Amino acid sequence: MERRMSEKEFVDSFDRALEQGHIFVVYQPQINHSTGRMIGAEALMRWRDPEFGLQYPADFIPALERNDLIYRADLYVFEKVCIFQQKCLGSPVSPVPVSFNISRYDIFEKDYVDAIEEIRKKYRVPVRFLRAEITESSAIGGMEVISEVLRKLHEYGYMVEMDDFGSGYSSLNILKDLEVDVIKLDMDFFRGEVGGRGGVIISSMVQLTKWLHTPVIAEGVETMEQAEFMKSIGCNYIQGYLYSKPLEEGDFIRKLAQLEHEPEMNSMEMAESMHAEKFWNPDSMETLIFNDFVGAAAIFSYSDGQIDIQRVNKKYIKEIGMNLTAQDFVTMNPWTYVSAEGRRAYKSVIQKAIKTGEEQKVDTWRTFESRCCGEDKICIRSTIRLIGRAETQYLFYAMIQNVTAEKKRFIELFDSEKIFQHAFDQANVFAWEYIYATKQMHPCFRCMRELHLPPVVENYPDSLIEIGIFPSDYADEYRGWIKKLEEGAESIEGIIPLTVGRIPFHVRYTNEFDENGKPLKAYGSATLVVDGEKEG
Ligand code: C2E
Ligand code: CA
Ligand code: CA
Repeated sequence: MERRMSEKEFVDSFDRALEQGHIFVVYQPQINHSTGRMIGAEALMRWRDPEFGLQYPADFIPALERNDLIYRADLYVFEKVCIFQQKCLGSPVSPVPVSFNISRYDIFEKDYVDAIEEIRKKYRVPVRFLRAEITESSAIGGMEVISEVLRKLHEYGYMVEMDDFGSGYSSLNILKDLEVDVIKLDMDFFRGEVGGRGGVIISSMVQLTKWLHTPVIAEGVETMEQAEFMKSIGCNYIQGYLYSKPLEEGDFIRKLAQLEHEPEMNSMEMAESMHAEKFWNPDSMETLIFNDFVGAAAIFSYSDGQIDIQRVNKKYIKEIGMNLTAQDFVTMNPWTYVSAEGRRAYKSVIQKAIKTGEEQKVDTWRTFESRCCGEDKICIRSTIRLIGRAETQYLFYAMIQNVTAEKKRFIELFDSEKIFQHAFDQANVFAWEYIYATKQMHPCFRCMRELHLPPVVENYPDSLIEIGIFPSDYADEYRGWIKKLEEGAESIEGIIPLTVGRIPFHVRYTNEFDENGKPLKAYGSATLVVDGEKEG
């Protein structure tokens, strides 16, 4: 008798289903719609009961989740995928990367990532043939756990896809906090709405992913019309019935042999002209993105050397922090508060952005005058990108960051000249000072820029050990150095591999003492080890 099984029946027959292969894996190809090549496949769990027939994932997945069985089921699927990939690698049919689903319950198992890693190693499948799919719902109840899982997956080299993006759970915020490598948009959420509201949402979402340089796979694509629509907005990667239903192993192998493969996924090219008009519509998705998702940003037009600010978002106003209103920005002539030197620099990056179409960065000092705060000089880092053009007028999107504190600190340091005496004359020198009393480290500007450090690093060196600037196997030795310096060593030096890339650096410290001979601070520098200097 074929029928849907109850939750209890799923639970009771679970062990037997694993042992006897009633639970198995099917593969759904993912295709580049422009080239017809296969870019990957998704592994999907199936359950065929000998008595009750094929069951729906929509029934058994939630049942397994509620009964703490999904973890075992997912590891089982992962193992089957590895076995399959190993088989392909040893056969004339080369594999494509296969995505596997991670339930939001899996991530609460402490050793999930290590468990899959062990399986992968057992079958010697290169990590590039496996892609992890996480869902937005994994973030329910906090970002910590999912962030940690993501970090670990990346550390082991897995590409990570955001499944069901746009299904609702505050998508945009999640994307900002989780650096996924691929986004999957499910057409099901926009079913029957091509060209209508659904179309607008999809194209805005895709637009957003362009800014993030993240490739998109459209899922659930059933018709040529949908595929062509996705292509028209720059999304070529497609998974859906249009190309193929999920296939059992044998059929999937035939598909693998039949189609060319395209294992690299690229983010989409920037569209020639963005739908700028949507930015003016307060109800549009663009406005939502502009206000809530992106950081401090402005849209400005550029024509004949003149800049016109069209629009600034709330975070922009906050970042400038001068008690000015959006209206103030739009009506001011922006050049008047930028120094002549700043204007030249800004114009030159605008020219470069127009020429290359690529993002450009520039720091400029600006003098603002506001009703409450009087006159103040602040330094703004702008990252600009061309988003549209019409004859001689260009439309730009600018993200800004107030870097005044960073710059002031840099100038102070420069004045004091202590840190930078030698550092700036040499290539590849990183310099910093460490203050014993506060456990604070003050990095040089280069450290800040290249290692993304803040102007003041607290709890040194542990905070940098934690983020991997000092590899963990060198952590104790490094802590030992700091201790010796604190105890009064004049200087200390040696070769240490730095950053997760383990690049060998010659690290030197010299101590500064107070009038009583007590250590006050240490000056550190790190220079790239040149050939011949490497540790034996
Ligand atoms: P999902 O991860 O979003 O998987 C895609 C679903 O869309 C699959 O449903 C697939 O068969 C279906 N689909 C593919 N192309 C089309 C199409 O053109 N039109 C329509 N209407 N649907 C299409 P499926 O296999 O029923 O799986 C449902 C959900 O069950 C999955 O959604 C996933 O959330 C979960 N699931 C499946 N396998 C696993 C697994 O191994 N582990 C975990 N944790 N969850 C799984
Ligand atoms: Ca999925
Ligand atoms: Ca999906």
